[in-house]
Amino acid sequence: MTSIAFIGLGHMGGPMAGNLVKAGHGITAFDLAQASMDAAAETGVGIAASARQAVADAEIVVTMLPAGKHVLSVWADILPAVKPGTLMIDSSTIDVESARKAHGLAAEHGCEALDAPVSGGTGGARGATLTFMVGGSEDAFARGEPVLARMGRRIVHCGGPGNGQAAKICNNMILGISMIGVCEAFVLAEKLGLSHQALFDVAATSSGQCWSLTTYCPVPGPVPTSPANHDYRPGFASALMLKDLKLAQEAAQAVGAATPLGAAAAQLFGLHNAWGEGGSDFSAIVQLLRGRGSA
Ligand code: NAD
Repeated sequence: MTSIAFIGLGHMGGPMAGNLVKAGHGITAFDLAQASMDAAAETGVGIAASARQAVADAEIVVTMLPAGKHVLSVWADILPAVKPGTLMIDSSTIDVESARKAHGLAAEHGCEALDAPVSGGTGGARGATLTFMVGGSEDAFARGEPVLARMGRRIVHCGGPGNGQAAKICNNMILGISMIGVCEAFVLAEKLGLSHQALFDVAATSSGQCWSLTTYCPVPGPVPTSPANHDYRPGFASALMLKDLKLAQEAAQAVGAATPLGAAAAQLFGLHNAWGEGGSDFSAIVQLLRGRGSA
C-alpha cells in the first residue's frame, strides 16, 4: 500500500482518488472546494486541512487541477513540504511549457516527476478506464505506472518531461479537426439529399473512416451510444475541446509548427463556445455548421 496525496478533487480527481482508495492505497487529499472534499470523504478519501498538510507523509503526490498556472502555484506551495524522493504526478491537461517547468520545480526539491494527462473523461475516471499519456524518466515511469494503472486501463510512456502533455494535445488536435470534417460531410450530405445512414454505411467502411464517425457519430441514428442521440450531453464538452485546441496552438506557435487546420478548428470551437454551447458535447458543432438548424 502506497501513501498517496491527491490535490484537486473535481469531476475527474474525485473519482480517481476514490479508485485509489478501492485499490487499497491510503489517500490524503485537499481541494479548495469544501463540497468536493465532502464528496471524496464519502468514498473513503482522507481529507487534510491544506495542500501542504496533505502531502507531508506522501510517497506519491497526484495533482488534478484546471490549468498550468494552478499546477505551478500548487507545486511551488507543496514541494517544500514533501519528503525528498517523493514522486510528483500531474494529471491535469496543461500547456507543455508549464509541464516542463513543473518537472524543473520538482527536481529542485529532489523529487522525480511525471506529467500524466488523461483521456477518457468523467466516465473513464469513474470506471478506472482512463488512458494516461506519460512524460518523464524511465525510473519515474516505473514508479508511477502501478499507481496510474489503478485509475486507468492504458498507460503509455511518451518520452521525457512534457511529452505526455504533447501527446495529449496532438491527439486532441486530430480529434477536433476530424470531428469538424465528419460534421461538414453530414451537413453536405443533408443538402444533397443523402441520408445520414447511407453516408455512414459508406464512409464507416471506406477511406473516410475515423473515430469521430464510427464511435462518436455527430448525428443521431447510426451510432446509438453517441452524444448526438442524447441531446448532445457530454461526453467531452466543447469548452474542454476549445481548451485543448488553444493549448495545441500555443505549443505550435512556441515551436514554429504549421498547424493551419488546428488553428481553424480552434476558431470554430471558439465560435461554438461563444454561441453558449461550451457545455454541450463537442460533436454538437454540427449544429453550428448547419446554422443551428436540425437535421
Ligand atoms: P474541475 O474543475 O471539476 O476540478 C478541478 C478541481 O481543482 C476543483 O475541484 C477545484 O476546486 C480544484 N482546485 C483548483 N485550484 C486548486 C488549488 N489551488 N488547490 C486545491 N484545489 C484546487 O475539473 P475536472 O473536470 O476535474 O478537470 C481537471 C483536469 O483534467 C483539467 O485540466 C481538465 O482539462 C482535465 N480533463 C478533464 C476531462 C473531463 O472530461 N472533465 C477529461 C480529460 C482531462
